[in-house]
Amino acid sequence: MARHSALFLGVVVLSVAAAAAQAPQAKPAPQAPPPLTVQPITKSLYLVKGGSGANTAFFIGEKEVFAVDAKMSAASAAGMLAEIKKVTSAPVTTVIITHSDGDHINGLPGFPKGLTIVAHGTCKADMVAAAEALPELKDYIPNKTYSDRLELLPGPAPVILAHFGPAHTSGDTVVLFPAEKAAFVGDLLFVGRDPLIHRHKNGSSFGYVETLGALLALTPAVEVFLSGHADPLGRADVEALRDSMAGKQAKVKEMVAAGKSLAEIKAAFGVVDRPAAAGGPRFPSLVETIYLELTEKK
Ligand SMILES: [Zn+2]
Repeated sequence: MARHSALFLGVVVLSVAAAAAQAPQAKPAPQAPPPLTVQPITKSLYLVKGGSGANTAFFIGEKEVFAVDAKMSAASAAGMLAEIKKVTSAPVTTVIITHSDGDHINGLPGFPKGLTIVAHGTCKADMVAAAEALPELKDYIPNKTYSDRLELLPGPAPVILAHFGPAHTSGDTVVLFPAEKAAFVGDLLFVGRDPLIHRHKNGSSFGYVETLGALLALTPAVEVFLSGHADPLGRADVEALRDSMAGKQAKVKEMVAAGKSLAEIKAAFGVVDRPAAAGGPRFPSLVETIYLELTEKK
């Protein structure tokens, strides 16, 4: 028996070694997140890419620093705080949360407790629900909320929070920095792929297009758009996304009116569904989302 086991083990070790030699990249070890990088947008506004989770930003006011979003791990959030310290001695007093997705909020425990945490009211409700699964978030539930617009920092270089209706989720916040001609829009911009609409958080593709239009109509005009998953973008990028989404909405609407089925519409767009992660919500494609919005009973 012992000899059998030893033989068996030997075979297993050999075959594992052979497999590893043949396909060294077949099963990569869990990767460390990319290093944090800080990109100055203006003298006061910085984009933080890398680490675990989405891009974040920070704005240096006269006396204090406003962080925008919180990365996905406490370690990455702590790294972000260390990067902020390299740029300014002003304290971080406030974290603005653009929406409740984990890649934007799960790093909150890396911030000191007791800061002002600001979000849209619906985002707060979603975060209360998220904290049931991630209890360390319970100390970081937003303690300041708003519904349409909040002038968070008045003065010549203001920080303004605005909500333009349901889009990526129903609790999205756009952070406006009018003096910088810039905005941080969370997940309201994607490049090279369709935007994700969280139907389980009451997001809306039609609301998304309206929000993009509202962003383009702001005065003073926003010239630089920072977001969770792209490099800084300009007005032409926002216009292109709005037009592409509106075009898809018009085509789906036409096909629905012509009595086409969802399967036919998806085939016409060449949509390939992504399977849901285990236990997670299914993320329908943009085309299916549009179809569901057009056909669901209100
Ligand atoms: Zn998101």
